[in-house]
Amino acid sequence: MNQSTLGIVKPDAVKAGSLGAILERLESGGLTVVGLKMIHLTGEMAQGFYRVHRNRPFFDSLTGFMSEGPCVVMVLQGENAIERWRDLMGATDPAQAGEGTIRKDFGQNIERNAVHGSDSPESANIEIPYFFNALELAG
Ligand code: ADP
Ligand code: MG
Repeated sequence: MNQSTLGIVKPDAVKAGSLGAILERLESGGLTVVGLKMIHLTGEMAQGFYRVHRNRPFFDSLTGFMSEGPCVVMVLQGENAIERWRDLMGATDPAQAGEGTIRKDFGQNIERNAVHGSDSPESANIEIPYFFNALELAG
């Protein structure tokens, strides 16, 4: 099933200069970039994006991190793109992530874990339009 998912290269990975390497991973992993932009989120935008986590103890720290510098938001397409991108990313905590995953290789800790990916079609349908309108998506 051809799917679309929202990916983010988080501020830690952009700052570390890992953007190119991460794009290489996802392209060689069978995903196609159909939308991409660099954006420095405000605190409010980060809070809105992560509103499902608003009652978690890490919410303020997470949204502070996500707005501390520019990130790259992208729409990825491909066969089973949602699960494929989650597999390429690895587990939330880089210490638990499998060998060869992006979070294992580029993440620093459970918060500063280099990348985001939608966790379901329902999430993708909310997250993609949070950052992109139809005119910004090719393919
Ligand atoms: P995922 O990004 O793998 O879908 P979650 O949706 O559970 O993970 O969490 C969203 C983001 O919140 C994570 O990617 C990570 O940056 C941060 N996070 C998750 N759990 C923790 C935690 N226990 N402490 C600090 N930050 C966390
Ligand atoms: Mg999640």
